[in-house]
Amino acid sequence: MPDTARSHSGAPEPVALSSVPLDLPARFDEVIEDLHVVRLPMVTRFRGITEREVALLSGPAGWAEFSPFVEYGTEEASRWLRASLEFSGLIPQSTTLAEAAPSTVPVRSSAPAADANGVTVAVNGTLPACPPDEVEPILSRYGRVGTVKAKVAEHGFASLDEDLARLREFRRLFPDTTLRLDANAGFTPTEAIEACEAFADFDLQYFEQPVPEVEQLADLREELARRGLPIVIAADESIRKAEDPLRVAELGAAEVIIVKVQPLGGIGAALDVISASGLPAVVSSALESSVGLAAGAELAARLPHTDRSRDILGDRVACGLGTGRLFTADIVAEGEALTPVDGAIPVTRIVPDPDRLQQLAVDPGRFEWWAGRLQNCWSALRV
Ligand SMILES: [Mg+2]
Repeated sequence: MPDTARSHSGAPEPVALSSVPLDLPARFDEVIEDLHVVRLPMVTRFRGITEREVALLSGPAGWAEFSPFVEYGTEEASRWLRASLEFSGLIPQSTTLAEAAPSTVPVRSSAPAADANGVTVAVNGTLPACPPDEVEPILSRYGRVGTVKAKVAEHGFASLDEDLARLREFRRLFPDTTLRLDANAGFTPTEAIEACEAFADFDLQYFEQPVPEVEQLADLREELARRGLPIVIAADESIRKAEDPLRVAELGAAEVIIVKVQPLGGIGAALDVISASGLPAVVSSALESSVGLAAGAELAARLPHTDRSRDILGDRVACGLGTGRLFTADIVAEGEALTPVDGAIPVTRIVPDPDRLQQLAVDPGRFEWWAGRLQNCWSALRV
């Protein structure tokens, strides 16, 4: 038996797609004509790194990104490869529950908006930990945004007073902007309760991963209910593979899940688990180049827009795909990068600029490391 959990609704057990062997040739270089590995410099240290290595490959459907973090092992990274092979059209998209049984998913078409620039999806602006007087200059760089995600707990519980001062300034400046918080698992359960008491005044859309463990999230939600604190909890770090959203739903650990295309094994697999979990989803990036962000935007445009999702997240769900701003260089010219303009990015395919690929290319040693990693992941996906 595959090690998947049953969904809370008793729905058919979804297949752990990444564990289904694929009928692939033995060598990935037989099908992938063009492999590039680039190193993208970052504006500031993020997730402990200042440069992000990213592999890019192309297939019949276009370019795709393969960028599991370097410390990830083959099994985990092979899910990311599956997503890349699917997005590039080198393997067919997995059939999704959403498509196979449309009656189980009440779908509205109002999520993506179309304008003169084509279909776009909304993205949130991000407010890092900063002194109150930097709130306005930082957010003014984003232009018009309807939703802002503020990082809290960046320095643990010790920074709660600073977090509150920043949030008060934010609310003074932007009383009508939708506000989310993200603690990146930075609180202990006791700290999280106290922080939630204080954060409840700020009219939050949701609070992302206040505590590290999924069981702690579930306990926190119970305690919030007991205290009558109406804070919606979202799970992000708790969701790293296809089985995780089901576990979050089963334990009642969150009301919203943050999903990323590559870790879940592709757009089709992501749609599957979102629908199986029954939870509203917000698409986020895995710190990707514009090629990877394009896959995220496509998933965001295809999310089931359920009544529950509309209640919590509104008609136009802002996704966390504005991370292109974290890099000082991308694989396309500045005007063509998937960076947000007035709170939205287009749903489109990205073709890397050959000069950029060359300028940003890693040294031969790193290229070999990535080629070997790709081969290992490829082998793991094979029959
Ligand atoms: Mg997060």
